[in-house]
Amino acid sequence: MNAPALPASAADYIAHIDLAFELMVVLDASGRIVRANAAAGDILGYSPVELAGRPVRELLHPDERAALDTLTADLLAGRPCHERELRWRRKDGATIYLSLSARWSARARLVYASARDVTTHRAARDELRRSRERMNDMLESIGDAFFAIDRDWRITYANRKAGAFIGVDVAPNVGRHLLEVAPALEGTAIVEHYRRALASGESGFFEAYWQPSATWVEVRCYPTPDGLSVYFHDVTAKRVALDAVRKSEQRFRNLFQEAGDSIVIADADLRIIAANGRACARFGYTEDEFIGMSVSDIDGHHAYTSGMLDSLRAGQTHLLRMAKRRKDGTSFPAEVHISRFEDGGQEYFQAIIRDLTEREEAERQLRASERRFREVIEMTPAGYVLASADGRVLDVNPALCALSGHTRTALLGRTLDELFVAFPWHGLAAHDADAPVQGVEAVLRHAQGGAVHVLFNGSVRRDPCGNVESVTGLMSDITDRKQAERRLQQLATHDTLTGLPNRALLQERVQRMLDECPHGRAVAVMFLDLDRFKEVNDSFGHELGDALLCEVAARLRKVMRPGDVIARLGGDEFVVAAECAGAQDAEVIAAKLLDALALPVLVGGQEVTAGGSIGISMFPHDAGTRELLFQTADTAMYGAKRAGRNRYRFFEPAMTLAAQARMALEMALRPALARAEFELHYQPRIDLRTMNVVGIEALIRWNSADLGRVSPGEFIAIAEETGLILPIGRWVLNEACRQTRGLIDRHGRTIRVSVNVSARQLAQPGFVDEVRAALADTGLPADCLEVELTESALIEDIPRTAAMLDELRALGVKLAVDDFGTGYSGLAYLRRFHIDVLKLDRSFVLQADGRISAFDFIKAFVDMAHALKLSVVAEGVETAEVLDFLRAADCDEVQGYLMARPMPLEALEAWLVAATEG
Ligand code: C2E
Ligand code: MG
Ligand code: MG
Repeated sequence: MNAPALPASAADYIAHIDLAFELMVVLDASGRIVRANAAAGDILGYSPVELAGRPVRELLHPDERAALDTLTADLLAGRPCHERELRWRRKDGATIYLSLSARWSARARLVYASARDVTTHRAARDELRRSRERMNDMLESIGDAFFAIDRDWRITYANRKAGAFIGVDVAPNVGRHLLEVAPALEGTAIVEHYRRALASGESGFFEAYWQPSATWVEVRCYPTPDGLSVYFHDVTAKRVALDAVRKSEQRFRNLFQEAGDSIVIADADLRIIAANGRACARFGYTEDEFIGMSVSDIDGHHAYTSGMLDSLRAGQTHLLRMAKRRKDGTSFPAEVHISRFEDGGQEYFQAIIRDLTEREEAERQLRASERRFREVIEMTPAGYVLASADGRVLDVNPALCALSGHTRTALLGRTLDELFVAFPWHGLAAHDADAPVQGVEAVLRHAQGGAVHVLFNGSVRRDPCGNVESVTGLMSDITDRKQAERRLQQLATHDTLTGLPNRALLQERVQRMLDECPHGRAVAVMFLDLDRFKEVNDSFGHELGDALLCEVAARLRKVMRPGDVIARLGGDEFVVAAECAGAQDAEVIAAKLLDALALPVLVGGQEVTAGGSIGISMFPHDAGTRELLFQTADTAMYGAKRAGRNRYRFFEPAMTLAAQARMALEMALRPALARAEFELHYQPRIDLRTMNVVGIEALIRWNSADLGRVSPGEFIAIAEETGLILPIGRWVLNEACRQTRGLIDRHGRTIRVSVNVSARQLAQPGFVDEVRAALADTGLPADCLEVELTESALIEDIPRTAAMLDELRALGVKLAVDDFGTGYSGLAYLRRFHIDVLKLDRSFVLQADGRISAFDFIKAFVDMAHALKLSVVAEGVETAEVLDFLRAADCDEVQGYLMARPMPLEALEAWLVAATEG
């Protein structure tokens, strides 16, 4: 094909395009190649001739045709193309990239185009891009923060981690000044390091603390020709771990340094590599001096024998007691604990050294104190015992051996329960602390079988858990004190004479009996009063009276059973109490008691029958309380006595009435004298031979305003018991003397008055003076007064009474014994007194009534009295027979209703006149 003809203007262009290295072509308006230079042929693989006339479109890569169309349109519109990269297809089919520049010449109606082959350049460019992408990926994936700055501190690159580290998104900030992007870096050591690395051109590593993210970082700076590359590596976790190790090491070091014992560590050659503070202080070396010393330098001898080293290597440890040497050459006793350990493949020996100086001193002192304690324990008079927790005796002292009568060997190993009757465990157990038990009374068993009372002080030693470890006891002998206490107790609760319980103990025992009395059973309380005790006492004296009481006590004991109560209330009053089924049982007991008392007792060589009256009260039948029981039994006893003695009576409510009546009588009697309720009646006494009146007996009469007429038999006894008899008796004496004096004066004849005097009156010291005064006051001649005394009044206190009677006799007063025959009726004792008259009691006379044998008795009696110069008066003569009998028996005088009843003074005066006249 032929190339189109070129306009002349294009000829110049063409003339030199052949010389160009670039591709140069000229195209017509339809895009056909008008002309192509040699380079175009080289680049596209065609010869220039092959190219001429070809549409350029055929040379282009099919994918670029659309682009060519737009480009052509642009060119034709006058818009030139500049360096446009398009793919072309070489003749051999290879694709090449050409960078195209073209221009449309409207005048020539041609397109001038040139192009460079950029295929190689483009490949290099793609490779660079890919390598950059790989680099980025790598920098992002390294896990560390990485950034680079130029010499002007502008960020040239930063990975995401770096952004996170600085706290900003770095990518958009590339090109900005580092300190502008991360102002927190300003002034930090980090920045200082960058500066140094930049200046010196040397890379550097350092660790720094990054405040904003609270992390430790390892920073690596690499200077580059452009500036600086920086890596941040987070080492916080590592540092924390290291820190922990460091701290634990420090702790260990502290422990090592501050340990209470000396610690020395030596290496395999037994050279000391470490010694703690205590070791330095103990041995006198500084730590530096210790290092390198041989362990044998501080040992008295070489402790680390090969045998020991072998066993240490076998894993054993050693505990030795040995002397250790100080720097100054002195040594001290020590306990050494040696062990071996390995570290980093090396073996080490560790010795923990405990200074025993103080402990040995303490032990020595303890031994000394124990010795002293031993000495004290051996010498103390108090018994000492040490026992184990289960009560086995571990130690005793000589005093305890003496107390118990056992040898030391016999005591060791015994139990406290064997040693004591009742070991006061309770006292010790009550003290849960270690507080001692003080002053507990305990009883030791003596080897010979007796009991030794001791005052026990004890303490228990406990372990920290509170379990008893041992028991210690000290005790002193209180047998004497106990005996004294028992004696006192006995005295306080027992009657000294008979040894029987006294009232206090009786009350206690009976109360217990009542409290414990089973339902359906009864308790009998018996009050027992001896009928003849007073007489025995009076006639034989107290000593024999006491003997009688003791004998009675013994007999009561024999009758009663062990569980019963026997007590003495005082005088001749006894009480017995017994639990029983009922009244029948009580009757049996009472009968036995009376039988026992009925047996004669030999007192002072004389046989006496004590006899007794028993009052019985039954619980709960008669009384529900102890007080009432006693009261009612007492009342019953009076009942028994009144009923005629030597018998028992059960309590009856009526007895209380009698007692109440008695009480009423006493209340009325008290003011009777002041109210002038008394008067005297007189009963004449007649000479049996002449039948003349020789005397009168003054007999008291009481006209009570409250009770009416009360006979002396009813109230004299009460007056005596209450002591009222003293003022009453004084009144009687004066009244009798006064009235008799009047009588004598009025009738002009001598008459003797007999005045009854009770034992109580006679017993008062001023009685003789009273008589003297009465005689003096009334002017009655002393021989006109006769004093009547009962036997019992006489024998109360024989020497004193005898003296008093002598005094009365000295005054001229006559003495008579009244109611003879009701008491002892012994004549022998009468010799002791200077008595004038014996008045035979009515009962004494009556028992002889009409019986021959009795007559002989009376006759003999009267004879005996006459022999003693006593005149005999018979009382209570009511019949002529008795009168005859008495006359036959040679009786001296008589007194009785047969002759005259007791009568008031006026009646007596009238009677006297009548009698004298008749
Ligand atoms: P006594 O001294 O033995 O007095 C005699 C008692 O016998 C009197 O009783 C009298 O009345 C009573 N009596 C006299 N003749 C007969 C008789 O034929 N048959 C009977 N059955 N009895 C007769 P009375 O006055 O009741 O006195 C009783 C007792 O009281 C006295 O006994 C005397 O012991 C005492 N007594 C009386 N007056 C006093 C007094 O002033 N002082 C003291 N201490 N005792 C007195
Ligand atoms: Mg009389
Ligand atoms: Mg009489």
